[in-house]
Amino acid sequence: MSNVCLTLPAFARKAEVRRGRQRLEITGENSMFVGHYSVAFAVKTERNRIPLWVLFIAVQFLDYIWATLVLLGVEKLRVIKGFTAGSMLDSYFHPYSHSLFAAMAWSAIAAVVYKTFCSRHGCLHSNTAALIVGVAVFSHWILDLVAHPRDLAIYDDTWKVGFGLWNYRDPEFALEVALLAGGIIVYLARNVMPPIRKTATIGFGIVLVIVQIGDTYVPRTPLTDKATAMGVWIFYTLFVVVAFLVEKIGRLRQINAPWS
Ligand SMILES: [Zn+2]
Repeated sequence: MSNVCLTLPAFARKAEVRRGRQRLEITGENSMFVGHYSVAFAVKTERNRIPLWVLFIAVQFLDYIWATLVLLGVEKLRVIKGFTAGSMLDSYFHPYSHSLFAAMAWSAIAAVVYKTFCSRHGCLHSNTAALIVGVAVFSHWILDLVAHPRDLAIYDDTWKVGFGLWNYRDPEFALEVALLAGGIIVYLARNVMPPIRKTATIGFGIVLVIVQIGDTYVPRTPLTDKATAMGVWIFYTLFVVVAFLVEKIGRLRQINAPWS
């Protein structure tokens, strides 16, 4: 009996020390996110005229579905310290948003939705543009395949794959930034725009890199599964709004003061 009384506070103290250490060691809950935006920037051209904000939704579409389903309690997420070097997310059940078959289905749905939207608004090259939107949605799964540990199912919740680059924090961070920079360079080269929009685009790229640095390297206490999903909704939508505004600035200038 006395043993129990003596050991319990000891256990409690140890747990407290462990919790303290966790607070210091935790370094973000990376979900390979700025790398996805490289695709949004890279596929936008003068010819397809897909709004950048639409592509920003497309490349994160699977994560929007995922965050929504986590909030609804349908898909499951555990937040674990040290699950991989760069991530605390153990997304152990996400067949409806992140299985290969689901990714293909969501890509097809996104393409059809964009095609329908395009037909109503009389866009040019709507078939190609719709196909590009579908490819942008699917690109999310390909990049997740590179980054994720083996948690991406091929079908339903079986045959899990993932190359696990999250286990190597610095190379993973370097790849994300290199992809994003490459995407922005392609975007600036293929789209005619006033200098102010070029500056705004580069500034936006820098902000995304800063957010990624915070996500990957800055220690903080872990969030709950629902708070993580909510964060995905808030941050990704914020970036969609910025992408919309960046392209708007250019257009307003174009109308007011023709530069070409
Ligand atoms: Zn994802």
